Amino acid sequence: MRRRGWLQMLAGRALGGVVSRRELAAQERVEQAVRGMPSPRIQDIRVIATAPANSRLVVVKVVTDQPGLYGYGCATFTQRADLVVPAVERYLKPLLAGRPADRIDDTWQLCYNSSYWRNGPVLNNAISGVDQALWDIKGRQAGMPVYQLLGGKCREAADCYGHAGGAEIPQVIESAKRWTARGFRHVRVQIGVPGMSGYGAGGGAASVPKLHNDPVYEPAAYLRRALKLLEACRKELGEEIELLHDIHERVSPNQAVQFAKDVERFKLFFLEDPLSPEDLAYFRQIRAQCATPLAMGELFNSPHEWTPLIAERLIDYLRIHLSQAGGLTPCRKIAAFAEMFGVKTAWHGPGDVSPIGHAANIALDVACYNFGIQEYSPFNERLQEVFQGCPVMKDGYLYPNEAPGWGIEVDEKAAAKYPFGAGRGGPGGRNLNGGWGVIRRRDGTIIKQ
Ligand SMILES: [Mg+2]
Repeated sequence: MRRRGWLQMLAGRALGGVVSRRELAAQERVEQAVRGMPSPRIQDIRVIATAPANSRLVVVKVVTDQPGLYGYGCATFTQRADLVVPAVERYLKPLLAGRPADRIDDTWQLCYNSSYWRNGPVLNNAISGVDQALWDIKGRQAGMPVYQLLGGKCREAADCYGHAGGAEIPQVIESAKRWTARGFRHVRVQIGVPGMSGYGAGGGAASVPKLHNDPVYEPAAYLRRALKLLEACRKELGEEIELLHDIHERVSPNQAVQFAKDVERFKLFFLEDPLSPEDLAYFRQIRAQCATPLAMGELFNSPHEWTPLIAERLIDYLRIHLSQAGGLTPCRKIAAFAEMFGVKTAWHGPGDVSPIGHAANIALDVACYNFGIQEYSPFNERLQEVFQGCPVMKDGYLYPNEAPGWGIEVDEKAAAKYPFGAGRGGPGGRNLNGGWGVIRRRDGTIIKQ
């Protein structure tokens, strides 16, 4: 009321010729800035489900009551994508309709607590879809990219690693050289095991005697191959390239301890997922016995699962799938907490993250001081047709879009051209509706994958 009175007084003086109309307009702009932008309300929430690059992507669109003001968030849980849709439409939409769109943390807490039982991957992804959409909306309101809302850039772009894989060592080395020829300084290398279902690389046409008809895998055979691969990569690719390797939680805890010690001499950038989430206590043993840098966390759901690994300094890099943890809001807090303990970020960035999710990764990459590395997946033509404004890759660096919010527009007509397909085939070619099949040891024991 006091400001309005002051402006009325100025207006009166303007009419009397004491204050110019230009001065009055300037004061009105100051008042607008002091008052802040009008608070938008959530009017509609809907889901865009699309698979332009075969991975099932789920994106949430939050529409406000202000004309043209809306935002997008990634809610992609590709193995159970169909379940995220009703979690958004039947639970979060009625909860949030009519509420302010500009109270991001408050909305996150509301959604997180509304199910009483929390931290599941379906619910966290649904919350992420809304959460990231609200950050997009706030960026569009402010006319700024989201990284500016987080404090602005700590660096110009995100240094990335590419995936090199092959059934045999020469193929992996050739694949790695293709990445370095494109300017990449970091490459993740994965090797197949003959006749087996490896992670990140096929095993060729060989067959392995087994007591079942499912894909087969033996940890000891894989570890021997991986050790030879890393030795060959260091020899053939030289000291300058940064090498990464992902065990993908497929070996026993003691094998992981042994392998981390064995590869110490190759000076990896990091060794990823040496243990499964069920075996975290073994990190202390790895830490006590070698200095191989460790990355962990893409399978965690609760933001609190990272806390002990960070506080005890048991890992070097956080592998977080942003939407799995509930979106940008919890992840920026985890990143800030990790900074205090010298732990760096390495957000999960495979093909089953939508370009909206990649944009959220990059916003944190450039704005967080404790950035470590960014996993890179190329955006093919069909992805770029649906998601216009994908982050740009140049010489191994991903650059954030400079447009407001995430800087990405979703072409919903184009998205509708790419409905969910049958997904990954299970044993015997069964349709697993996007889910993963089974992998067994020779004797038939199921392994974690
Ligand atoms: Mg991994």
